[in-house]
Amino acid sequence: MEEVRIALRNVGHIKPDSIDAYLKAGGYEALKKARTMDRGELIRTIEETSRLRGRGGAAFSTGKKWSSAFASKEETKYIVCNADEGEPGTFKDRVIMEGDPHTVIEGILIGAWAVGAKDCFIYVRGEYEKSIRLLRKAVKTAEEKGLTGDVTIKVVSGAGAYICGEGTAIVNSLEGLRGEPRLKPPSMAVKGLHGYPTVVNNVETFAVIPEIVNRGAEWFGSIGAEKFPGTKLMCLSGDVKNRVCVEVPTNATLRDVVEGFGGGIADGRKLKAIQLGGSSCGFVTPDALDTPIDFDSIRSIGASLGSGAVFVIDETRNIVDILLEIAKFFKHESCGKCTPCREGTMRIAEIMEKIACGNGTRTDIELIKTLSGYMQKTCFCPLGQSATTAFMSALKLFPADFDAKLGKET
Ligand code: SF4
Repeated sequence: MEEVRIALRNVGHIKPDSIDAYLKAGGYEALKKARTMDRGELIRTIEETSRLRGRGGAAFSTGKKWSSAFASKEETKYIVCNADEGEPGTFKDRVIMEGDPHTVIEGILIGAWAVGAKDCFIYVRGEYEKSIRLLRKAVKTAEEKGLTGDVTIKVVSGAGAYICGEGTAIVNSLEGLRGEPRLKPPSMAVKGLHGYPTVVNNVETFAVIPEIVNRGAEWFGSIGAEKFPGTKLMCLSGDVKNRVCVEVPTNATLRDVVEGFGGGIADGRKLKAIQLGGSSCGFVTPDALDTPIDFDSIRSIGASLGSGAVFVIDETRNIVDILLEIAKFFKHESCGKCTPCREGTMRIAEIMEKIACGNGTRTDIELIKTLSGYMQKTCFCPLGQSATTAFMSALKLFPADFDAKLGKET
């Protein structure tokens, strides 16, 4: 299988810090075309013909978000580009921002035209200094060329909190409040930044918009899986030969990604598991390799596509060691707003440490299961609700790994 490059079409081919290079590659033609189109028609095309769904993890219809904001009678509307890429093993948005920042700017400007927004924000993970520098330069040069019109785009650096990759927490942070999630509904498209309709889309989502406008929504809708058309950027990491970011049509299989683009498992070892979608997601075993990578197919096997992270684990690993790192991550990243997550993630990290060191007992495992049940039901946001998903998945798939770690007095 070959890559199909839509979001990455210019990456590696043009100088990312040159607007002239982007213009020469056909850049900003889609924006000009979009501005001649009726806004309602443009949104309908994105929603019904391209059937584009968000690439940030939730896979919500992009056109539906845009149409909610467009339908609002409020004069003030905002666009927020979620570039707070903090999921372990995910680096796709960085590849786009560092390789072709103008495609993100163009996608945002098309979105702003469609919904009638005048103020846009790109909320970038603070550690991504190069992305921030390139995006700021891209915005400045686009302004100098008169391409932004009466729309302003501000590139904002996040402070390094994982939770600010969640749409409502970004909005809190942009308002100068603590980076904590808000209660939904209302959705951001109805009541977001400063109480006004706000469209929050991911970098990868905005990056494909110019090509959808340029080459047509039918063209995009004809690629990949019927219900999740187009391409998806997948980030390979862990025990795989090639740790790369690739853009594949959504009907590619996990095998195409791991064995084809990833080159298989390093050092001739066997595949044990893949953690798909990031730390808050479960594991799949080698018998899932022929599953297409579209959102719905992955969900049908009880896994999650999430951000597109593909963390490959070989036969020499004990999953418990990986779970310990995941538990430490969630303990560190819990925003602290609600007690079940703040206290629960701490307790789970403590118990996992005990188990990983060989001092755990079966009672400890039962305790984590109980805690997990409470957290899923009572945590305020998906971070806490899914902090133990990997643990529960591993317990089902790899009980022998736990047995190998338990202390003598079990
Ligand atoms: Fe914060 Fe965790 Fe509660 Fe979410 S679940 S609000 S991250 S403390």
